[in-house]
Amino acid sequence: MRNKFDVLIIGGGPGGLTIGSLLAKDGVKSAIIEKEPDVGGRYRSIVFHGCRSDNGVRMPTALVRKPEQTFMYKFLSHMGIAPKGIKEIAWTMGMVRKDKSDKIEYFAMDPKKGVNNFFEFFAFGSGLPMEAPSRQALATAFRIMEDTSERECRKMVNISFASWIERNVEDPIARAVLELAAPLMGAPPTVVNCGQFANIFGAFPKAGALLFWYPKQGTMEDMVITPLADYYREHGGTLLANRRARSIVIENKKAKGVVVQNNKTRFLEEYHAPVVICAMPIFEAMWRNIIRREFLTEDWAEAIERCGKLTYEDLSVFYLLREEVIPKDGPGWVHIFDPDYGIPTYVGDWCLGWPLFNVDEPPGKQYLYSYIPGGLPDTPFGSASAPEMVNAAINRWEAAVEKVFPGFARAIEHKGKSLQLNWGRYAFAVVPTELDLQSPNIGGLYFAGDTIWSVSSMVSDKIYQTVFPLRDRVMKYLRA
Ligand SMILES: Cc1cc2nc3c(=O)[nH]c(=O)nc-3n(C[C@H](O)[C@H](O)[C@H](O)COP(=O)(O)OP(=O)(O)OC[C@H]3O[C@@H](n4cnc5c(N)ncnc54)[C@H](O)[C@@H]3O)c2cc1C
Repeated sequence: MRNKFDVLIIGGGPGGLTIGSLLAKDGVKSAIIEKEPDVGGRYRSIVFHGCRSDNGVRMPTALVRKPEQTFMYKFLSHMGIAPKGIKEIAWTMGMVRKDKSDKIEYFAMDPKKGVNNFFEFFAFGSGLPMEAPSRQALATAFRIMEDTSERECRKMVNISFASWIERNVEDPIARAVLELAAPLMGAPPTVVNCGQFANIFGAFPKAGALLFWYPKQGTMEDMVITPLADYYREHGGTLLANRRARSIVIENKKAKGVVVQNNKTRFLEEYHAPVVICAMPIFEAMWRNIIRREFLTEDWAEAIERCGKLTYEDLSVFYLLREEVIPKDGPGWVHIFDPDYGIPTYVGDWCLGWPLFNVDEPPGKQYLYSYIPGGLPDTPFGSASAPEMVNAAINRWEAAVEKVFPGFARAIEHKGKSLQLNWGRYAFAVVPTELDLQSPNIGGLYFAGDTIWSVSSMVSDKIYQTVFPLRDRVMKYLRA
């Protein structure tokens, strides 16, 4: 196998595949180094109990008004892989108790119940008691957002959401809920801008739920990963699967290649290229010393290390499945909320057997499992401050889940490793500088995928947005 390329890409998730295929379009010879047997990263489909399903990824980003507005759609169209057959779905969330597994208890995010149900979700999720006045105050706040035109929203991009809350919402619980909702945008309310929040959340009163786009047939892997991987191979790209990157070869402050371990032979192999793109989760890359502090700016390195310390196992859902903590008596949709951001922020979910997701087998089973902090507390409002209530709710949650599913705490606690998919955590890793696509200190070292997420865009849509400037920089470097 040849070991010299123009570009080496570490990680075959959507981040690595997008930049690889875009470079291939320009005739650049690259290789993607992927530790797993297959590419796809967190977009990979999973098979559980005979069902093939996504692990929960939907069309990014759900929170724009039309799928065509997503950067993913634009990127795939640019590549001649226009996504076909997308449908809009509302994010419904329910709960099945282990002792009553034949009955779905909807408690939140049921679009049929309207926007109040959405507040219920936050009340349940955060453990905040939410009486009628608080709901009323929240409804009023959302109504204001709903009535704010896109043009007006654009005028508010310099106003922090925190200051908007301060001015417009009096009820302390409603305030707390809004503050706790801000991390869904990827950052604390002081950082999230008011225009962006209003533009996105203003859609909720109408829909009564978060809206997502999803392929009408198949999975996100079918829609994005398979066509991209085919394109990549057909245009001269090399997939080096089953190889784990160990270190980046640097000479005279320039990237020269990557040392990998072949999973099959266990031998180390060295591949050479003047450009290396890190498209594996950056927390892990630092944790494993593939990316070293000196490759980054001080701020950047510190932000990543700080995030890395807030750790739970990545893909805790898979971890739970592996540990067989989650009941296996039916397909389901698991939501895991990570409590360490102050609110149980979204960590990930996994769905099976839900007709909205076109999973045919087993037909008719629509169980949804959801583990979030356990119910509304009896504590009357005023006895504790909101953060204390939230913390108490988190503790209750962990204890409650542990009781029902012994081993839960053990399964999610995985100290020393980092979690790569918490939105809130990414917000802290944001480096608001032009440098975030490339190393400031090492020539030819670039970053793709989730490594460069920013506050301004949610979930993986950022990947497809940044791939074009990244391609331009790499091309410039190669030409020079
Ligand atoms: C449950 C869940 C739900 C999600 N929902 C959404 C959603 O609705 N919308 C959305 O836009 N995004 C969603 N996401 C996020 C989305 O999956 C990620 O943003 C996206 O996958 C990031 O792509 P990436 O290529 O940067 O990283 P990844 O997808 O993580 O890919 C990184 C790749 O690098 C490989 N790798 C790691 N270490 C090494 C190494 N040392 N050597 C070689 N290879 C290595 C990994 O095996 C992997 O294939 C969700 C994620 C999860 C887990």
